[in-house]
Amino acid sequence: DPVLDAAAAEASLLLAELRRVLATAGGEPRDAAPGAAGHLVVHHQIQVDGTGRPVGTEALVRWAHPRHGLVAPDRFLPLAERHGLMEGVTETVLRRSLADGARWRAQGQRLRTSVNLSTGCLSHPRLVPLVDEVLAATGTPPEDLVLEITETSVMADPETAVATTGLLRERGVGVSIDDYGTGHASLAYLTDLPATELKLDRAFAARLVADERTAAVVAGTVGLAHRLGLRVVAEGVEDAPTWEKVRALGCDESQGWFHGRPVPADEVLALLVAGGPGRVLDGSAAPLPQ
Ligand code: C2E
Ligand code: MG
Ligand code: MG
Ligand code: MG
Repeated sequence: DPVLDAAAAEASLLLAELRRVLATAGGEPRDAAPGAAGHLVVHHQIQVDGTGRPVGTEALVRWAHPRHGLVAPDRFLPLAERHGLMEGVTETVLRRSLADGARWRAQGQRLRTSVNLSTGCLSHPRLVPLVDEVLAATGTPPEDLVLEITETSVMADPETAVATTGLLRERGVGVSIDDYGTGHASLAYLTDLPATELKLDRAFAARLVADERTAAVVAGTVGLAHRLGLRVVAEGVEDAPTWEKVRALGCDESQGWFHGRPVPADEVLALLVAGGPGRVLDGSAAPLPQ
């Protein structure tokens, strides 16, 4: 089948290029040499509290590819996972995003940084030492780092997930359960996992305003999470009515296009100062554009 062959050829080319990207100083940007495979880029999306004040950012990786432009994580991370390359990706994103956070801190803006972990990362013996090293190197207070894990990766190996989460918690690093509500996990593992945050999958935000039953599920989930001492973040908040609703239902924080799209690190501070539709700014900032 020529179509399948072409797809397989493209995938193996991408894989070879990704290996090259990770081999060059963890994907640090380099001069655009002919035949270069590009580099990894970390974008940040802000998270706001109930008053609209920015409190953190989520680091989201992209691949600046010479032929394909900015490649979305969904297009290359599955390949990286299948071929054991996630360790390199995670290290790059962790180093880069905490360095960005340190720069913002130096400019007077303290923001929490959330970094996504893929399934295998949680059981990798190098994860915790790497976190220690990068926190120290960037002078990041441990409580300013949150590692996001998914229900699927918890369920893949619950014992390791609980143990690693415990080690991170001992250091003060936060642990978030990402895309909550989309997996098929029983509620039981929540009892054992010492997480600090629960991120409601954006499927909930998408249906919240129109669907009373979804709102009831979210209200119940928020109550449960709060009783377990977890902060609740609503993902995928795209408009004002949805932000209203997630706040009314008790979500502590909100993230989504309404508050800001993922942007390169250089643009984060400008975004904080210029304001966005969902934000209430403090007196030092420019007024909201109408
Ligand atoms: P995620 O961790 O659930 O990240 C949220 C995704 O939702 C991001 O997609 C973000 O751009 C998108 N998003 C944010 N606000 C909205 C909104 O209001 N509406 C809609 N429809 N979407 C919104 P992105 O950047 O394409 O990342 C996709 C997934 O790739 C992430 O989902 C995460 O699972 C994974 N990923 C991204 N960066 C990394 C990374 O550095 N390491 C690992 N292991 N996974 C990553
Ligand atoms: Mg995430
Ligand atoms: Mg998510
Ligand atoms: Mg997701």
